[in-house]
Amino acid sequence: MERFELDLERIYNIIKDKNCKKVGLQFPEGMKRQSIATSRAIEEKTGANVVISGNPCFGACDIDTMLAGRVDTLFHFGHAGMGKHENVVFIEARSNIDVMPAVRAALPLLKAAKIGLVTTVQHVHKLDEVCRFLKEHGKDCVIGKGDLRVVYPGQVLGCNFTAARVDCEEYLYIGSGFFHPLGVAIATGKRVIAADPYLNQAVEVAPEKFLRKRSGYIARAMDAKVFGIIVSTKSGQNRMELALELKNNARKHGREGFIIMMDLVTPEQLLAFKADAYVNTACPRITIDDAERFHAPVLTPREFEIVLGERKWENMEMDEIVEEDTRKAFIP
Ligand code: SF4
Repeated sequence: MERFELDLERIYNIIKDKNCKKVGLQFPEGMKRQSIATSRAIEEKTGANVVISGNPCFGACDIDTMLAGRVDTLFHFGHAGMGKHENVVFIEARSNIDVMPAVRAALPLLKAAKIGLVTTVQHVHKLDEVCRFLKEHGKDCVIGKGDLRVVYPGQVLGCNFTAARVDCEEYLYIGSGFFHPLGVAIATGKRVIAADPYLNQAVEVAPEKFLRKRSGYIARAMDAKVFGIIVSTKSGQNRMELALELKNNARKHGREGFIIMMDLVTPEQLLAFKADAYVNTACPRITIDDAERFHAPVLTPREFEIVLGERKWENMEMDEIVEEDTRKAFIP
């Protein structure tokens, strides 16, 4: 059974060193069930009062700043660090699951000699083992560094595939779900094999169906006159400058753009605005994961460029949030 290792000793030491009286805990959705036992352990061991964040949490981009402002230290679990926060400590969670059966299943599907390795933070500590295995089987492997939004070589996020921009012929992604490997395939234009350590299976990612669906949303937004441009209040998702750029571009092309700032972007929240279509500058996953639930087309900023005629359909790209200071390095 999968377990996530949490470094509680580190938390106890930080609380003691900083003499914290009140601390906050923030868990992502998949780990919230661990929050009560963790709070109990911290209170018993340190005597500090613990306040648990009850708000949804989707990533390191999503710090409960309200809670952070009310406690001495906020411990944010499950994600690698992102951004600068005065009193936030990131406590990563490493999965103990064995990834090798899935990697063995992937081996016959890998055609190229030089393989780029990518994964999510839960499995980054397994990449060296995977690399050794591939080398034993005649492959060369490359693990890219990524920009400042990611902490570990080979780590990808649903909004950042910079660690995949390496000199290789195809990729091996280790992790569950299709979003990340799909993102790598579209961001790089190369073949991606996804090895799922929870199912011990490997498949080739086929982005064509996904791209066809997205083309459908773009086509539906072609005649839209009024666009709601969504900006997130979340610490690591706020792209106000980009939203202002999009608003200006809309005007240049005879459309109207209105900036809507919000915390949680849900189909229910958007329903009231009655814009013809929306452009989402918040987490790129919202655009994709909830696409069918929105009452009007919700586009990524890149897709919006296609609607305005500034980008060709065939140059459609995944939306990525990259650290501005490194961005130039990745744009050809
Ligand atoms: S913006 Fe979305 S994909 Fe990126 S880290 Fe946050 S939750 Fe994950």
